[in-house]
Amino acid sequence: MGSQKLIYLDNAATTGVSDEVLEAMLPYLREQWGNPSSIYRPGRRAKAAVEHARGQLAVALGCEPEQILFTSCGTESDNWALVTSMELAAAETDARRGLVTSRIEHHAVLNTCSYLEEHGFAVTYVPVDGEGFVDGEAFDEAVDERTALVSVMLANNEVGTIEPVRQLAARAHERGALFHTDAVQAFAHVPVDVRALDVDFLSISGHKFHAPKGVGALYCKDPGRFAPLLHGGGQERGLRGGTENVAGIVGIGAAAETAARDLRENIARMSALRDHAIDRLLGELPDTRLNGPRDGQSRLPGNVNIEFTGIDSAGLIELLDVQGICVSGGSACSNNDAEVSHVLTALGRAPEEAASAIRISLGDNTTPEELDLAIDTIVADVHRLRSFSLM
Ligand code: PLP
Repeated sequence: MGSQKLIYLDNAATTGVSDEVLEAMLPYLREQWGNPSSIYRPGRRAKAAVEHARGQLAVALGCEPEQILFTSCGTESDNWALVTSMELAAAETDARRGLVTSRIEHHAVLNTCSYLEEHGFAVTYVPVDGEGFVDGEAFDEAVDERTALVSVMLANNEVGTIEPVRQLAARAHERGALFHTDAVQAFAHVPVDVRALDVDFLSISGHKFHAPKGVGALYCKDPGRFAPLLHGGGQERGLRGGTENVAGIVGIGAAAETAARDLRENIARMSALRDHAIDRLLGELPDTRLNGPRDGQSRLPGNVNIEFTGIDSAGLIELLDVQGICVSGGSACSNNDAEVSHVLTALGRAPEEAASAIRISLGDNTTPEELDLAIDTIVADVHRLRSFSLM
């Protein structure tokens, strides 16, 4: 990333391709560039590579390879699960036109919900508590015999809250609804087993765990009862036409295998770094507040989201950028349009409070030294910005 030594603390926005993943991909960009649909050897090799990657993801998620559908990103996986499930339900009966979701989903889910509302479906947005956990009572009230699908994220991208998806899925199933979870931030960062969770759909995205951008996947419990997203040449067993992104698929398979191998160690190391960062920031700066759960078990190992009263996070982020430190405010997407974070608002924060929060997201390659240097800088910058506002 250029010549300046960066301290990159925005791993929830994206991650770099790791050496191991790149090594696995390179042959499929250089020599093995066959089309998986071709029946001669180079084609068969490419096809075998795609199927190997499908197997790697299946092992990592605890499912059968046939239940993995490759996509281009997490957004596509979310769109496919939501739109197609609702269309299929509507085709079956007029009685189930409801979708229940939470107020703190990513825009990949929320904007798909708006689209569905425009097309005659009824969406209920369940509130969350002050730490970002879905309100159980409101959830139980919202999910009923008219609900076709429930979509609640496994972990929130801004505040790191890990939702009780297993329990929510069980409650949705009791009422005859299907369950989708957006695991884009959770997969490869906390244990994710689709059988234990008992979900019907689960979305992941490669670039959040050292695979390249442009590849994701959707777990589908019953692909025989699902419907195509892209009509074309019969790829992905007729569910998503289009010549496969072979190198990207090889990359996401390798990245999933590596992440599963290193998961326990990374969780322990990153959680310790996260807690150290939280303790330092809250301890060294007055008028600060942690957003998201205090209990480390319920929070993504790499997530720190802190509000600095009186500070405009956009100004702090710019200042840190000049100093070679990358963090974000709210989610990556909302940075473009200076919109107040819908997640922090749902947690009960006032607009000016939400606008004073930054998200630090650690990576498995974040070192204690660079994190301490970043915290030293943030502490000094917050003092500086606060002293300016007093003048
Ligand atoms: N869902 C969540 C929770 C995310 O954090 C993101 C990306 O930040 C997405 C979905 C979208 O993923 P992608 O960038 O692969 O489309």
